[in-house]
Amino acid sequence: MGDSMKEVVEKLDPVARRLIPPNIDLGTLVPLKTNLELRDNLSLGFAYITRAPNKVTNSVVEIARALTSDDTAKNLPHLRRCVKPGDLPPHLKTQFMNEGNGRQVHFGKSNWLYILLGPKDEIPYEELVSRLATIDDIRDDIFVGVIPVPLLAPTSQMLASMWSSQFWQTIYRRNNPLGPHPSTITRFENYVSKDASVWMSLAQQIAKKSQKAGLGEPVGAVIIKRTIPGKNAGGKTVMKPGMIESDSSSDYTRTGPNGCNLDVQGGRGEMDAIPSAETEYYGDAKQLDADGSNPEAQGDDASKQDISVKESTEIVAIAADARWHQQDGTSGPTGNPMAHAALRAISMVAQKLVRAEDRPKSEPQIMEYETFQDKPLLGDEQIVFDADHPSPDGYLCHELELYMTHEPCIMCAMAILHSRMGRIVFRHRMPLTGGMCAEDRGYDSCEASGLCENGNCGGGQGLGLFYRKELNWSLLGWEWESNDAEHMLVDAHLHA
Ligand SMILES: [Zn+2]
Repeated sequence: MGDSMKEVVEKLDPVARRLIPPNIDLGTLVPLKTNLELRDNLSLGFAYITRAPNKVTNSVVEIARALTSDDTAKNLPHLRRCVKPGDLPPHLKTQFMNEGNGRQVHFGKSNWLYILLGPKDEIPYEELVSRLATIDDIRDDIFVGVIPVPLLAPTSQMLASMWSSQFWQTIYRRNNPLGPHPSTITRFENYVSKDASVWMSLAQQIAKKSQKAGLGEPVGAVIIKRTIPGKNAGGKTVMKPGMIESDSSSDYTRTGPNGCNLDVQGGRGEMDAIPSAETEYYGDAKQLDADGSNPEAQGDDASKQDISVKESTEIVAIAADARWHQQDGTSGPTGNPMAHAALRAISMVAQKLVRAEDRPKSEPQIMEYETFQDKPLLGDEQIVFDADHPSPDGYLCHELELYMTHEPCIMCAMAILHSRMGRIVFRHRMPLTGGMCAEDRGYDSCEASGLCENGNCGGGQGLGLFYRKELNWSLLGWEWESNDAEHMLVDAHLHA
């Protein structure tokens, strides 16, 4: 064990220290990619634009709003509503200057603006023209142009600048609309990387013990609570299961007094005041904090917060796979799915929370067959189970950290999401059955096993469940790669 690891071990909570194996193999963290990040970054669509004197832009914007659907994302909130003729990309400037009253618009004394109306697919053209004709100042020369625009928000200022010169003025909102912000990943990775090897070694150890005892497959899970200085440590957020996205108006975000926002490249005021895409996405301030919609401001916040909070970790649950426990061979080839390691570990956290609330115990039910194998079965599980929950408030696994020997199956991945877990680290990818990774994979992995009738069962679907917009919760995820640690081999078709 190296000196830095010795230091980490010395700082562990007593329960964890009691369980750790003598040798801890080191590994490195590789952040998971989201489905959106793996998709083509530049997806283009077409948008209608028009031009009008400054004084009537409000009326034009109202018409545009009335004609587009309410869908925030479709309304292109990353593109400026109004652009001065001089700020058009050069090729558009040249083109539009020579159309209709272009000369007057570009060189005349009155102030005209180009206005983005919305996606071409969303707006009926005839309707648009007839409504624009109701505005006196443009009635005689209605201009409607169609331009290609990027449909997704940019992920950096550099990209926004590039798109501004290629397509239309584009706003970078300092968030990553395709996944967790890189600075957030880095910030947490600095903490997680210090001791990830310790927790992974515990997950591997319990996995092997379970296999040896004939309880289950060599799959293990460890849940810890990590306290980070400067981060809200209270955990007072009351989670509302079934939360829906707050429906912030995107038009508000890019609209000034006359229906336009003209501050080029987005002033600070705008950036701070607007609900960012991530606010809309989570509807949860705590998670927003964790995902850093505004990482620069976050640094300031951190320094203002209670710095007396010490960086620490505490183990909350450890559980191995127990799918073969109490199985008499009639349960089929997959064993008991309720006894997957992740489900057992989450359930143990729940039991600790109930214990802390000091609820009167219900009469133990006597059942011949226990479906939820969520009582400790191994010595290590019992030791962690007996220790009290370090902070028994907040929703189930809110902001806790999960370590697994294998990428969890789709069922467990959803359970992890529902438990509001904050971060996940796993070692072995399960290309055919895993629910966390976003890559389509494993198309060639089952041929060798000879288990598939056709010699190939098609590969995994790359659901990327750790970060999906439609699921209303997301976590940070890493794979843990190690050349030293023993491989925990399982069948490619196993649902971990
Ligand atoms: Zn599972």
